[in-house]
Amino acid sequence: MEFDTITAISTPMGEGAIAIVRLSGPEAVAIADKVYSGTKRLAEVDTHTIHYGKLIDPKLDQAVEEVMISVMRAPRTFTREDVVEINCHGGLVSVNRVLQLILQQGARLAEPGEFTKRAFLNGRIDLSQAEAVMDLIRAKTDRAMNVALNQMEGRLSSLVMRLRQTLLETIAHVEVNIDYPEYDAEEMTHSLLNNNLLTVKKEVESILQTASQGKILREGLSTAIIGRPNVGKSSLMNALVHENKAIVTDIAGTTRDVIEEYVNVRGVPLRLVDTAGIRETEDIVEKIGVEKSRKVLKEADLILLVINGNEALSLEDENLFRAAAGLDKIVIINKTDLELKADMDRIKELAENSPVISTSLVKEEGIDELEQAIANLFFAGGIEAQDLTYVSNSRHIALLQQTIHHIDEALGGIEADLPIDMVQIDITRAWEILGEIVGDTVSESLIDQLFSQFCLGK
Ligand code: GDP
Ligand code: ZN
Repeated sequence: MEFDTITAISTPMGEGAIAIVRLSGPEAVAIADKVYSGTKRLAEVDTHTIHYGKLIDPKLDQAVEEVMISVMRAPRTFTREDVVEINCHGGLVSVNRVLQLILQQGARLAEPGEFTKRAFLNGRIDLSQAEAVMDLIRAKTDRAMNVALNQMEGRLSSLVMRLRQTLLETIAHVEVNIDYPEYDAEEMTHSLLNNNLLTVKKEVESILQTASQGKILREGLSTAIIGRPNVGKSSLMNALVHENKAIVTDIAGTTRDVIEEYVNVRGVPLRLVDTAGIRETEDIVEKIGVEKSRKVLKEADLILLVINGNEALSLEDENLFRAAAGLDKIVIINKTDLELKADMDRIKELAENSPVISTSLVKEEGIDELEQAIANLFFAGGIEAQDLTYVSNSRHIALLQQTIHHIDEALGGIEADLPIDMVQIDITRAWEILGEIVGDTVSESLIDQLFSQFCLGK
């Protein structure tokens, strides 16, 4: 495939110490050479080497920038094309000047995600790996980063490829039996189909089981802090935000009017959401009743129910417990620096099996225990993200669910003794759908749409 040479600023905009302008394509080295002045021409240097020099503006005939330039020739590069990276001072003015200079020499400004798209189109990575690059850019915690890294290394791809192979062999068997019906031991075909399909189904299901965790790692655990007025909800929120680094949220497509605060609690990204006003809710039950507030609370992945330990349990507290019954929650008995007046036995009863943690937020006590409880709840037994192939991308999840659907149809067809070539249609469809995960069978418009979500310069 023939491509032109593209360029973009590939470091985040802002006041970094250095910035990188990246070029990729057949003319990358030649274009950089037109403005570079150093001890050697870039055309003559070894691949994967870095060179100090100056950038000359040919129009002014004067040096405009001090730079370090990396030259990496195809195919051992991210895009599998010739890649040149110009490291320059990080200020907005200087990096833009370098970019303009490169554009004037005939490079084209890259579209968002175009570097990664080229890596995909040139066969360097498959689609799920390309999507992982995007996840990596947005990863909010180390664990989320690991999920993306695993995916980038192709864990999901190789799993999907193995399953597709099994389906393909199954289809081939069916073909043989259709073409040579005299060999057809019908019983055998049926049991072989059944076994293979059940195997594939089980594996897809086990990947899907990691989906909710994967999605949470990616998008954050939406968390609502509820409790009566003055029990310490704001204090809790502040404690969580201050103890943990708040995570910058700059996700394309999120609306600005939804206030979201991300905090990283021991690898679990909490998203303190304010949709439907459930970020910090005191009079929800009073306002809309137990049943309706239940509906609202169900939207949260985690509820932090705060009680003032210095007061007797009130009817309002009991109503909050009722609204949150059966949902994932942690009960927090706050103000333990003061006299305990709440009935702890009753609280334990109302809490069902949820953890009950005592805190004194003014004295900053109990916050560690609370964080540990959050992590335990999420990682049930402390499974490390690396141990599993998490699937977190909603496109992948939808495709895996469709795969199961078609496998079920095929299994049902076998059960109902449908003609085997009818069954084959569903198996083939499952094979195709799995192919969409790795990008074997996706349409061009989908590819364009996926890559356009990337940041510029990636
Ligand atoms: P909210 O209305 O539920 O958000 O409660 P706030 O976080 O605004 O706290 C209400 C009041 O309780 C404030 O004056 C806090 O300083 C105080 N407070 C919060 N946590 C504690 C605690 O652990 N002990 C004591 N003694 N006071 C607390
Ligand atoms: Zn408050």
